[in-house]
Amino acid sequence: MATKGYRRVIVTGGAGFIGSALVRYLVGSQGVIVANVDKLSYAGNLNSLREIESSPEYQFHQLDLCDSESIGTLIQEFRPDAIMHLAAESHVDRSIDSSAEFVDSNIVGTHSLLQATLGYWESLEPDQQQQFRFHHVSTDEVYGTLGKEGAFSEQSAYKPRSPYSATKAASDHLVRAWGHTYGLPIIVTCTSNNYGPYQYPEKLIPLMILNCLSGKPLPIYGKGDNVRDWIHVDDHVRALWQVVQKGKIGETYNIGARCERSNLELVEALADLTDEFTGKPIGESRSRIIHVDDRPGHDWRYALETNKLNDEISWQAEIDFEAGLRSIVKWYLENEWWWQPLLDQGALDKRHGTSHKNES
Ligand code: NAD
Repeated sequence: MATKGYRRVIVTGGAGFIGSALVRYLVGSQGVIVANVDKLSYAGNLNSLREIESSPEYQFHQLDLCDSESIGTLIQEFRPDAIMHLAAESHVDRSIDSSAEFVDSNIVGTHSLLQATLGYWESLEPDQQQQFRFHHVSTDEVYGTLGKEGAFSEQSAYKPRSPYSATKAASDHLVRAWGHTYGLPIIVTCTSNNYGPYQYPEKLIPLMILNCLSGKPLPIYGKGDNVRDWIHVDDHVRALWQVVQKGKIGETYNIGARCERSNLELVEALADLTDEFTGKPIGESRSRIIHVDDRPGHDWRYALETNKLNDEISWQAEIDFEAGLRSIVKWYLENEWWWQPLLDQGALDKRHGTSHKNES
């Protein structure tokens, strides 16, 4: 059941990978009334919401966050207790080719949403103002890159290095500024790499599973020794909801599951699992690993310290990584109805971000 006070929530980007998992969770098991606001970019997909789309507790609004007037009207009419802001352009490779869309959605869009939210929040009664939360969902990539040792904490300096992470960092700063300057009750979370069902096929894990299934090469950027810290999307959305309910206003919380893998290790594991599930000899898919030109400016390692979340919010990841990977390979095998139309529309026809050219 919804915790008292948080019955009505606007989720932005709710047709995307993480946003749709959050909407399914809030509507499906938390009894929350959700307005999903999404412009339906190439990454937005209403099929990901099929299991809750006819619920009376769910509504969808196709809007671009940069359209501040329409967003303002929606917020005034829906009267949310919280806004969970996930809408963004999210693919680093695409940000290398065309940064303008990232500046528009991630920076201008966040500014527009903040202004619309502030207008609504100022109209609330004092007790409603106190209860309200603006929750901004960000990434560990704002902290930059790590060497072999250490992990980012909430005190780590911001050193974003890709157009994507730079726009996310800018939006984090805007959100905190609206907290400090205007008193908007904001919370920021920074999360490590997510994996799970309904992720657009261009991202590493679905790309590798789908290439294994179709017998294509498995292209790894550079040597494949870049390290990412992985969390299952269902663990992530549970953490997001806990933070909205229990987090302190103005604070930032890192969300991660302390699960580091090099890209090569990860792809080998996915290849072997796909072989196992499809009855091929183990090792057949991994023999198709090829090393391709690295991403320009590729961050080497991310890792997140999550003590603050574990101690203050009493949250722990529940999904073991190996079990999570098995379940995700199985999910892609069983849900061709979801991904095949995306491949038919050309989701994997082009590699993005291969040069230093920016077409914006
Ligand atoms: P995604 O690309 O799958 O989905 C983003 C959604 O936002 C899409 O449905 C898109 O249509 C929508 N959107 C984009 N611009 C918009 C705009 N101007 N107005 C309205 N809607 C717009 O992204 P995701 O992987 O689900 O990531 C969600 C959020 O979580 C992002 O803010 C991202 O930076 C953050 N994040 C992602 C990860 C990850 O591993 N995927 C990790 C940490 C943080």
